[in-house]
Parts: sequence; C-alpha cells; structure tokens
Amino acid sequence: MSCDGPDCEKALQSLYEFLDQELDGASCAQIQAHLDDCADCLTEYQLEQVVKALVSRSCHETAPPPLREKVLWRIRSVQVEIRAETQG
Ligand SMILES: [Zn+2]
Repeated sequence: MSCDGPDCEKALQSLYEFLDQELDGASCAQIQAHLDDCADCLTEYQLEQVVKALVSRSCHETAPPPLREKVLWRIRSVQVEIRAETQG
C-alpha cells in the first residue's frame, strides 16, 4: 500500500463512513477533495464501492452469475491497474 501520508490515512479511515454517507458536509467535502487529488485513495474508494454494492445486493438476493463475474472482473482489473501504477 503506497498510501502513507496523513491525508491518505485520514481519507482511508473515513472511507466507510463516506461510502455510507454518514459524514457531515465538511468531512465529506474533505474526503471528496482528497479523492480528486489522490489516485491511490480513489482506487481504494472505487474498490470498496464495488464490494459494498456486491455485498448489499447479495443480502437481498443472490447476484446472477454474469453480474458477479463482471464485478469480480472489475475488481481484478482495478488491482492490475494498482500494480501497474506502483511498478511504474
Ligand atoms: Zn490518498
């Protein structure tokens, strides 16, 4: 994980609250601004978003296989992007 700055730490700590829209306006804007700036945290956020969508969906009903495949493929492709970026 290349996120080691204090801003990244803060953003990642609030990521779940941000996802669940439990942050107040000011904190929310702060995280949003950081995500606009920081590709690492943005990728992390997008990953969590996909996982959260998958989990909430599977709570109500089992996701149809093609969708699950698509989500898993998306997660994998994001991970490949992260790896490609960190390796330069
Ligand atoms: Zn960051």
